[in-house]
Amino acid sequence: MTTQTPRADALVLFGITGDLARKMLLPALYDLTRQGFLDVPVIGVGRSDWDDERLRRHARDVLSAAEIPLDDGVFDKFAALLSYARVDYDDPASFTALADRIRSYGFLTHCVALPPSTYPVIAQRLSEAGLADDARLVVEKPFGRDAHSARALQSEVTRHFPEERLRRVDHFLAKDVIEDLLTFRFANTAVNAVLDRRFVRSVQITMAEDFDVADRGGFYDATGCLRDVVQNHLLQMLAYFVMDAPRTGSATDLLDERIRALRAVRTVRPENFVRGQYDGYLDVQGVKAGSTTDTYCALRTWVDLDRWAGVPFTIRAGKAMAATAIEIIVELHRPVEGYFHTAGAQQAPANLLRFRISPRAGVTFDLLAQHEGEATEVDQTAATVDFTHLTGNNSVAHTHVLGDAITGDPRRFTTMDMVEELWRIVGPILDLPGPPHRYGVGSWGPSEADRLVTDGRWLPLEQV
Ligand code: NDP
Repeated sequence: MTTQTPRADALVLFGITGDLARKMLLPALYDLTRQGFLDVPVIGVGRSDWDDERLRRHARDVLSAAEIPLDDGVFDKFAALLSYARVDYDDPASFTALADRIRSYGFLTHCVALPPSTYPVIAQRLSEAGLADDARLVVEKPFGRDAHSARALQSEVTRHFPEERLRRVDHFLAKDVIEDLLTFRFANTAVNAVLDRRFVRSVQITMAEDFDVADRGGFYDATGCLRDVVQNHLLQMLAYFVMDAPRTGSATDLLDERIRALRAVRTVRPENFVRGQYDGYLDVQGVKAGSTTDTYCALRTWVDLDRWAGVPFTIRAGKAMAATAIEIIVELHRPVEGYFHTAGAQQAPANLLRFRISPRAGVTFDLLAQHEGEATEVDQTAATVDFTHLTGNNSVAHTHVLGDAITGDPRRFTTMDMVEELWRIVGPILDLPGPPHRYGVGSWGPSEADRLVTDGRWLPLEQV
């Protein structure tokens, strides 16, 4: 893949009045200012009747509400970079006025934190105003609802911004802990050696949230669990977990290996997929009567890379579950029978290698040791390492996203090749007819999903 990566001379942020800007983008921009990285103008754009002062006040309020310790000097520098431009997406003249104001800055990065339905019109208006040629476009997820709509969107947007100047955000890819999967695997020869079909019996990936859809019923009901977190975040995480080592640390080599890994993930058949919906979901405001949207889903697939051939991978995600945690559990093969169990002891359990993504990033190795006084009986004991002192907290994801949006480094974004593969993998299980299985709030999801895992039993997460 070729990439055009000039550093931006200004950042144009569509949707500055919105939820993502409040939760992620404004704190990330402040953080980049604190680091001394952000030194270009930031033009927040919206339809709201705001001005520069209103935006700066909003930024201060947002940072205070997030309990981010404010340094007045840093904030003043940030505020001086920040200004507001009002546009009307139906009125090309308002984009001409925007162009008059920002054209002279040089190379622009336009970040679009708006509902995805607006991407084509934004791209078109920017192009009409002469703001597309010397610029990069960064769009948030989702990119389409399936392969067909993603291709249609791609065709509309690339009319104005070719692929090498287009970046699709998946903020999961910008979490240090996800990148660290590569470092941990490839920097530790012993770990890398074990992560291989000769030693691995199965891999289980869980993203559990103990909270429900709260006040986002309307958004969630049109999206569902599979599209919200599996098709993007968890499959990309899987790619990081299974990919071979990139030849070098360059963005091109990293992206090449990631796409090769995604191509090797088998398309999921409907019989390897289970959907669930928590009790009470239908009463949530914004949820359609009789909705069959999934708030839980689980799937089984395989990865046709030499290293992983034949190893079953199960992925589950859900809301209103028993805990909030993300974990990749690697189950190794059991020890050979013989030396163990001679005293009629229980079958020796398997070693588990747990990659804890959140809330406490790190790795746990469930090992076996001799039970006191009984050489052939074993006890399980855990070797646990926390990475939080190294990786910090995960809130930096959007700091990386916006930093890369400015530099143009494509490594943490999703390319169109990847979009194609991600929709291909889940293609046959999108929008399946029939009601999802019910599950209780605070449970681990519907028991129907148990058949997808080896031995019919999900391995318990360490972090609960
Ligand atoms: P919001 O619904 O908060 O909208 C953002 C802003 O867009 C609004 O403040 C509004 O600003 C403008 N807007 C809303 N509707 C329209 C419209 N129909 N046409 C033009 N402008 C509109 O969205 P979010 O901030 O939640 O999300 C933005 C993007 O980020 C989406 O693609 C979303 O999927 C993605 N995302 C959001 C996450 C989140 O936690 N919120 C997480 C991950 C991704 P104004 O009226 O001032 O123009």
